[in-house]
Amino acid sequence: MDDTCIFCRIAAGQARAEIVHEDELAVAFKDTSPQAPVHILVVPRKHLTSLAEAGVKDGALLGHLLQVGGEVARAAGIGQGFRTVINTGPSVGQSVFHLHVHIMGGRRMGWPPG
Ligand code: 5GP
Ligand code: ZN
Repeated sequence: MDDTCIFCRIAAGQARAEIVHEDELAVAFKDTSPQAPVHILVVPRKHLTSLAEAGVKDGALLGHLLQVGGEVARAAGIGQGFRTVINTGPSVGQSVFHLHVHIMGGRRMGWPPG
């Protein structure tokens, strides 16, 4: 755990968040600045700065994050259509440097994203 990382602190129960799913590997919670009617973040308990830092040993964990993403999307009522985003690096919008999967839905979205 990185004590200076907000998502590590949420995963450890040291910072508040509206948690929608927790298990031994991952935590999912509502984004505080939602960009869609449903906007949930799925994060590993393990501190990984970004997807670019993940290695072969993290394969099962990465699969788990996607599986949880589908589960929380269905539970939130957007199982029919949702956007799954992982921003890697400041140039594409990463602002929190703990790997997280955005699960967004509940409105129409264009493609490609900006
Ligand atoms: P990024 O820009 O890194 O892809 O996504 C970071 C997301 O985390 C943003 O959508 C932002 O609104 C959200 N966020 C930042 N700080 C907090 C926080 O303390 N709590 C919650 N729930 N979301 C946060
Ligand atoms: Zn962290």
